[in-house]
Amino acid sequence: MKLLFYATKIYDKKSFDTILPNFPEVEIDYIEHELEPRTAILAKGYDAVCAFVSADVSADTLSILSECGVKAVLMRCAGFNNVDTDKAKELGIVVKRVPAYSPESVAELAMALAMAVNRRLYKAYNKVRENDYTLKGLRGVLFYGKTAGIVGTGKIGAAMCRICRGFGMRVIAYDVYENPSLKDFVEYVSLDELLKTSDLISLHCPLMDSTYHMINIESIKKMKDGVILVNTSRGALIDTDELIEGIRLNKFLGIGLDVYEEEAGNVYEDRSDEIMQHSVTARLLSFPNVMMTSHQGFYTVEALEAIADTTLNNMKDALNGIQTANDV
Ligand code: NAD
Repeated sequence: MKLLFYATKIYDKKSFDTILPNFPEVEIDYIEHELEPRTAILAKGYDAVCAFVSADVSADTLSILSECGVKAVLMRCAGFNNVDTDKAKELGIVVKRVPAYSPESVAELAMALAMAVNRRLYKAYNKVRENDYTLKGLRGVLFYGKTAGIVGTGKIGAAMCRICRGFGMRVIAYDVYENPSLKDFVEYVSLDELLKTSDLISLHCPLMDSTYHMINIESIKKMKDGVILVNTSRGALIDTDELIEGIRLNKFLGIGLDVYEEEAGNVYEDRSDEIMQHSVTARLLSFPNVMMTSHQGFYTVEALEAIADTTLNNMKDALNGIQTANDV
């Protein structure tokens, strides 16, 4: 079974090579190119390709992969909004993903971002490095006793609920389905109620037509003044221009973003020597209450091991015609 591994980073190769001896039938070639229409042709002669969140698995890409004889697209991530699943079905290409690899990895980053913006850790760190021991601009608020509003209580949202409970917060949530494992301590409310009453709002629902730009100027205006907003899910859940408008209205104590609309093309690239022609990211970072990371929620030792193991099992299942819960 031959696998072409796109957009390889050193840590990918390390985690996959570590478990490869457990899969003697699998052979992997790693390349740095991103999977997109221009690079899909490289998959000629491979049974499957492995791609990540930043890949362009559009109808064009899938058609070329199909012509190359590729039978499976293995997403080494949970989200699959960048895959044209209808086209894949039409072409008979199996798409599998890694729905749960370590929900706590993402949830812990969400809380880290919330804490970091609350206590302005990014500023404090730099101030002390500069021998500036003043406290100006560093005052935060207590989380203990406050209300956490979790949007989407699947695997990651549920982990975030448990973390917030550990902080002594009241936990409310909005989801289209209620998660029975949370019934002892989470109160489900409408999205409007959540927006109106939460001191910390953390987004954990997938990006779909119904959730695209769910955080916009209308929803921001419903939020409490001094709210903290965290997004570790997908950038386009938030309308960035309207978020900036909300920041200028002084709505937020802090905003922590691990994902953002502009991330395609930036994620995992070093562009530090480049002059950016236009950058919403730079505009967001010009505000003292915004902290951003570049899609690193999944990036823990435990998550990487789980991703590698599940992806190679997905490959075996896909090529043996076995349907599982990991099919998309
Ligand atoms: P999940 O499928 O377990 O949970 C998603 C939840 O969202 C479900 O309970 C679903 O009912 C709910 N939902 C669906 N539509 C909704 C709506 N309109 N409003 C509110 N809730 C809605 O997914 P998960 O594993 O918890 O992952 C959540 C998201 O986190 C993924 O979709 C992915 O985009 C993102 N993610 C980010 C990283 C990262 O590195 N930052 C890593 C993994 C996943």
